Amino acid sequence: MARYTGPVCRLCRRDGMKLFLKGTRCDTPKCGYDRRDSPPGMHQFRRGKLTEYATQLREKQKVKHYYGVLERQFRSYFKRATQASGNTGDVLLSLLERRFDNVVHRLGFGQSRAQARQLISHGHFTVNGQFVDIASFQVRTGDVIQVKNRKKSLQAVVANVSENQRDVPDFLSVVEGAIPEGRVSRLPEVEDISIPVQVQLIIELCSK
Ligand code: SF4
Repeated sequence: MARYTGPVCRLCRRDGMKLFLKGTRCDTPKCGYDRRDSPPGMHQFRRGKLTEYATQLREKQKVKHYYGVLERQFRSYFKRATQASGNTGDVLLSLLERRFDNVVHRLGFGQSRAQARQLISHGHFTVNGQFVDIASFQVRTGDVIQVKNRKKSLQAVVANVSENQRDVPDFLSVVEGAIPEGRVSRLPEVEDISIPVQVQLIIELCSK
């Protein structure tokens, strides 16, 4: 097989793990992380031990890249998590996991969170029969996510569902059919998040 010579994604190598940002490409030999095990840049082998701050920052950046949220949005999730009852880190990850774009992706309706965001903003989904085009919308237990019953929406999603090779997490379920449908059976917990995160380091950083 010819060696892939196109551009490589840098974020996963920089954050030290596969973040699955590029849809089906992440599961192919084109994955930049699988093809090289060094961090990006010319001087990657000269880097010394990370400081405590750098380790904390790396964990935060990893989560931000994974969910595709900017610093301001991330700070607002952190604020909500500190105000909620329960473990701040667990609440923070649950809030991020409940984002509509994440749920659409994890149901297999979008190949990546970026594509899921685009599908949502183009108005291809309803939640409990109501039209929702906001990627940051928070799903709740019992919500039913449906693809709109129109040719354009179905074409965009049905192919993704049939190509999806990843497991749907336990807090969600998919009813495949002519019109794919997803259900939220419970709120997501830390175990439902598919990348290992040391959330305590993020809390320490954001609490400074
Ligand atoms: Fe790129 Fe996906 Fe591989 Fe990450 S996991 S390096 S986003 S192809």
